[in-house]
Amino acid sequence: MKIIMLGAPGAGKGTQAIRIAERYRIPHVSTGDIFRSNIKGGTELGKKAKDYIDKGQLVPDELTIGMLLDRISQPDCEGGYVLDGFPRTIPQAESLKEALEKRGERIDLALDIEVPDSHIVRRMGGRRACPKCGATYHLEFAPPEKEGLCDRCGSELITRSDDKAETVQGRLDVYHRQTYPLISYYREEGILREIDGTKTPDEVFSALEALLSEV
Ligand code: ADP
Ligand code: ADP
Ligand code: ZN
Repeated sequence: MKIIMLGAPGAGKGTQAIRIAERYRIPHVSTGDIFRSNIKGGTELGKKAKDYIDKGQLVPDELTIGMLLDRISQPDCEGGYVLDGFPRTIPQAESLKEALEKRGERIDLALDIEVPDSHIVRRMGGRRACPKCGATYHLEFAPPEKEGLCDRCGSELITRSDDKAETVQGRLDVYHRQTYPLISYYREEGILREIDGTKTPDEVFSALEALLSEV
């Protein structure tokens, strides 16, 4: 099963991708997490990506596409994966399609989690993230069991530097300009499914499971 998660920053892609990955025993591939671990590790890629991420802009396709294609050619991705945060531009989607076609493969579903912009600012403002395993929490909507600690791995939670109020509106603008066109792209491919992301995380997950069970 090869799945793409679509939706605005803060829509709940990561929250749901982690659940899908656990349920279907496939890797959760988050380009944001891969960039953040490169930044932390001080790699060349991390140095190049950092400024874009801090400003809320997209990292250029030249850096992002190769990184993602490398990741999904690893042995653990042979049985499928859930992509979270990729593709974010039409050229990224085209490159992915081409690379898969060469191996006689394709994406099964593109799941669009729909949340109006008016909800997003509150979601990103209260987001706390685990720097180790990538899980996210929310101070109000999804608090961890022990304050400040990740339920899954016990690490100390952080506020992401790009979740500042000043950056959030810019990221939403980037989403509408550069990523939103992917909705029509995957609709035309016949694999788009839309889900109401304003429901609780459990309700959203049930809706996703129902769609996935049809594949
Ligand atoms: P969110 O969960 O809020 O949508 P992510 O963790 O997916 O954010 O991404 C954080 C940042 O990493 C993005 O704002 C962008 O700068 C960069 N990034 C992640 N994925 C991509 C991508 N596919 N193309 C370009 N930049 C990306
Ligand atoms: P994305 O990966 O799309 O940027 P996240 O999964 O990180 O989004 O979720 C953004 C924030 O909203 C997090 O703080 C998360 O705990 C919270 N959240 C996720 N899903 C829901 C939901 N259905 N209702 C309320 N808050 C949610
Ligand atoms: Zn964790």
